[in-house]
Amino acid sequence: MADYLISGGTGYVPEDGLTAQQLFANADGLTYNDFLILPGFIDFIADEVDLTSALTRKITLKTPLISSPMDTVTEADMAIAMAKFEQGFITDPVVLSPSHTVGDVLEAKIRHGFSGIPITETGTMGSKLVGIVTSRDIDFLAEKDHTTLLSEVMTPRNELVVAPAGVTLKEANEILQRSKKGKLPIVNDCDELVAIIARTDLKKNRDYPLASKDSHKQLLCGAAVGSREDDKYRLDLLTQAGADVIVLDSSQGNSVYQIAMVHYIKQKYPHLQVIGGNVVTAAQAKNLIDAGVDGLRVGMGCGSICITQEVMACGRPQGTAVYKVAEYARRFGVPVVADGGIQTVGHVVKALALGASTVMMGSLLAATTEAPGEYFFSDGVRLKKYRGMGSLDAMEKCSGSQKRYFSEGDKVKIAQGVSGSIQDKGSIQKFVPYLIAGIQHGCQDIGARSLSVLRSMMYSGELKFEKRTMSAQIEGGVHGLHSYEKRLY
Ligand code: IMP
Repeated sequence: MADYLISGGTGYVPEDGLTAQQLFANADGLTYNDFLILPGFIDFIADEVDLTSALTRKITLKTPLISSPMDTVTEADMAIAMAKFEQGFITDPVVLSPSHTVGDVLEAKIRHGFSGIPITETGTMGSKLVGIVTSRDIDFLAEKDHTTLLSEVMTPRNELVVAPAGVTLKEANEILQRSKKGKLPIVNDCDELVAIIARTDLKKNRDYPLASKDSHKQLLCGAAVGSREDDKYRLDLLTQAGADVIVLDSSQGNSVYQIAMVHYIKQKYPHLQVIGGNVVTAAQAKNLIDAGVDGLRVGMGCGSICITQEVMACGRPQGTAVYKVAEYARRFGVPVVADGGIQTVGHVVKALALGASTVMMGSLLAATTEAPGEYFFSDGVRLKKYRGMGSLDAMEKCSGSQKRYFSEGDKVKIAQGVSGSIQDKGSIQKFVPYLIAGIQHGCQDIGARSLSVLRSMMYSGELKFEKRTMSAQIEGGVHGLHSYEKRLY
């Protein structure tokens, strides 16, 4: 393989690492933990990384994150909260207090790359809004003025244009446009800051008019159906209710039933976007693409609650499944959802680097405030239930899950999942911003300014991977400590 010259540098740098094609060239199936991505060159800030990505042929999301269609993960609360993230309200902006200094703003600017910072009484979200500091407030201050308190330079509350909590994004965008300001704070009845929207996002909205909203500017929502006769009724109700995308929910999607259902939907609702699956091979994907799906859901046996590989002997390690299906499906413009097995934000980055356009998460979003079900305590730990849709527990309680696992009417039910619990994770209002920022930082380390750049780097061979031995995996985790606390955000 040819060496290459770093122009103006000190000489030749030998080729290093494996291309994705080389990584997956032999027959070993790889999980996300079995490889790493070699870092690239950083010449932009993480905040700038554009996470816009396709869910289906016609639907684009601002962030590549979807929650699983599972009865312990997604009902209305989760769907609404997830969709709003993609909508442009920033619920965790950098906030300072009047007793912070100009130096603090400059530091925040270096770290986060922007300077329109809301000022609240306590310097946190949820506290009374008292002003905003923009670059115009501090541009002409001398070096010695870095210790000046923000209370002296900020634009005070009475001069600010704000919008009330509950405002729609469309209304907020109109207010922002009229105000000609860079940021619009959103406040509740007590004048406490609950969110902001940014002009830069407004511009992105203009550049990506389809992002996360349907043609009626409604939040996007998808729903799962099976492929049996009575699912056609559910399909009608879902389309009447305004679902934008239908996910055909099957653990093994390459079947006559699913192909017939795709034909049926495409004939009855030609504009409805349909995600088929699940698949893990190009051959499975081919049949569903030929049938007319607009997206593919990839994963078999990799879910945290899943025992499919153990029981059915079928499945595929998820890294290989994502790469193989995405590499095939892209030729037909069909985006891929990497479904299941996501345990960390690093796994999200890896899934996207292997060609997935979005990732679907069950366990990662389970036990959040927005997940269905009540919290309960066990040994003093606050938990919520999380169960596989192919667990006996779920199959006994909901007929939809039996269809997913082809188990309807069977005398003996074969479980493909387990039922368990997960520790309270708090609200996704905090967790999802962490995921988003984490993906942006991952892309920054790789040197990819956007997810489409990331994918093209992978397919061109510029993106380099390396396999991880068992000891490399141990080295890559925390080790050698007597005890430690792992706080992620
Ligand atoms: P997780 O994110 O690793 O928890 O995996 C969630 C994914 O597992 C879901 O989106 C489904 O594709 C899959 N899944 C859900 N229930 C079951 C089951 O009972 N058996 C196998 N896979 C399941």
